[in-house]
Amino acid sequence: MENLWAPWRMEFIAPKTPRPQECIFCTQPAAHRDDDYYIFYRGEHCYMMLNLYPYNSGHLMIVPYQHVESIEKLNSTTLTELMSQAQLALRALHLVMKPDGFNMGINEGKVAGAGYAEHMHFHIVPRWNGDTNFMPVVADVKVIPEHLANTYHKLKQALESL
Ligand SMILES: [Zn+2]
Repeated sequence: MENLWAPWRMEFIAPKTPRPQECIFCTQPAAHRDDDYYIFYRGEHCYMMLNLYPYNSGHLMIVPYQHVESIEKLNSTTLTELMSQAQLALRALHLVMKPDGFNMGINEGKVAGAGYAEHMHFHIVPRWNGDTNFMPVVADVKVIPEHLANTYHKLKQALESL
């Protein structure tokens, strides 16, 4: 496993620069540099961005603009939009990547594996038949066959056409 090339994952394990103190799910959409942060869709209450440290190609997140750690604190309008965006994301992913299935969900709290526990976000990870062959269960490195920028532009285009 030591020869796999997954530079973005390695940077997460050993970051070159210290991780920012401020909340990335608040500062990145506020910066209005969506191409730099792979924010490919904006709604009224939630937005969608690619995960920079993906577990598979097309791994994306749906994030409410509101800074809350739990879905308990979201109102029903935001919750509804979050699931509507999940539906849109699946349509777009089907269009551009043709996955065979998806893992979807929320890691709520550090104990549950949330990297940024203070601002809740909903993960969607596309799955393909046979991809577990390449997905090491124990090791923390794996190959991502498609580069992020490529995925970003394809998804953005697909959503504009939906
Ligand atoms: Zn935040």
